[in-house]
Amino acid sequence: MRRVYLDYNATTPLAPEVFETMKPYWLGEYGNASSIHWYGQRAKAAVEQAREQVARLIGAQPAEVVFTGGGTESDNAAIFGVVGAAQSATKHVVTSTIEHHAVLFTAMALEPCGVSVTLVPVGSSGVVDPADVARAVRPDTVLISVMHANNELGTIQPIAEIGRIAREHDVYFHTDAVQTVGKIPIDVEELGVDLLSLSAHKLYGPKGVGGLYIRRGTALRPLLYGGHHERDRRAGTENVPGIVGLGKAAELAGEHMVEDALSVSALRDRFEEGILSSVPLARINGDVSRRAPGTTNISFDCIEGEGFVIALDLKGLACSTGAACSSGSIEPSHVLAAIGKTKEQARSSIRFSFGRYSAPEDVDCALVTVPDAAARLRSMSPHWENAFSHQLSTIDAAIGE
Ligand code: PLP
Repeated sequence: MRRVYLDYNATTPLAPEVFETMKPYWLGEYGNASSIHWYGQRAKAAVEQAREQVARLIGAQPAEVVFTGGGTESDNAAIFGVVGAAQSATKHVVTSTIEHHAVLFTAMALEPCGVSVTLVPVGSSGVVDPADVARAVRPDTVLISVMHANNELGTIQPIAEIGRIAREHDVYFHTDAVQTVGKIPIDVEELGVDLLSLSAHKLYGPKGVGGLYIRRGTALRPLLYGGHHERDRRAGTENVPGIVGLGKAAELAGEHMVEDALSVSALRDRFEEGILSSVPLARINGDVSRRAPGTTNISFDCIEGEGFVIALDLKGLACSTGAACSSGSIEPSHVLAAIGKTKEQARSSIRFSFGRYSAPEDVDCALVTVPDAAARLRSMSPHWENAFSHQLSTIDAAIGE
């Protein structure tokens, strides 16, 4: 059975070049980057080279990049860090309803401490309106956090416009760019962000390592206290092999970006066209005109998403739903709820995400597997016949007019 991986937004495979670059740092190059001896200095040099590689990819100064334990930690460090350092008597944070839980739950965790949080809503496009962000800002707003591309829909947010609003109001601005770093060009100056989160395992690097861009001069309280690592901004012995891997992944991403983006969007677009023409009542969620290259999110009426993912997995195709399993029940995706989908529509939605190693044969295979599985599951659904005949009569009526 051919296995097809269409879940690049969940994680990417490690690039072989990244693995080769990391290897010595698991073996002979085992120094602690804080040690003053030969071993330590070699490790430190490798960490500093990685810092330069990451900084180059996002248009930052190396000293503005702090290594972390991944995207989640970067988001937590940015939000808790800015709010913790703010001196005002009352504090307010603006974020959006479609953020990853690493931002959403972090912001909400501040509420019991007296911080107020405004969640800016989005329409069916899945794109935040900068005017809504401007309206949400108050005199005591200390941080705006809006993600660069949504992980479920792929929709790219108007970060540069929001950056200008943040500047006008003199408010710090964080973006979670975990789904865009390495995929589309990023320049922290053009985006006007003060903080930006990234994660190695979304750009063909290792899991458990990430970065946080912190604009020079940003007042930030550290999340972790301990040694003087990372210029006192993130205590803890550096994960040297992981950081080296992130650096190499960043360098490769810069080299491959254009070619990756073109091939990945071509595969995604061919897949979408194939699905829309072969599966009745399949609908794409979110604004298709401004999406990260490899992502599509499709609702399949009358199909329960979890069951669909399992059926596809049994046929060798890996993809995902945005649903989260909480306290034993499956909660439909908060992102799909935020763009106005009903629980049923949200539960019938699947995310397919393509990447550097996706091949045209993967799309050919998926264009057989997905329609087959959809037809089989619908043939077992008590609602399908009604939904389909209702749709046909709507189309007939429209043609009749
Ligand atoms: N932010 C976004 C938008 C993500 O997609 C993810 C991971 O899926 C994260 C944050 C968390 O990153 P990590 O898995 O490195 O903790």
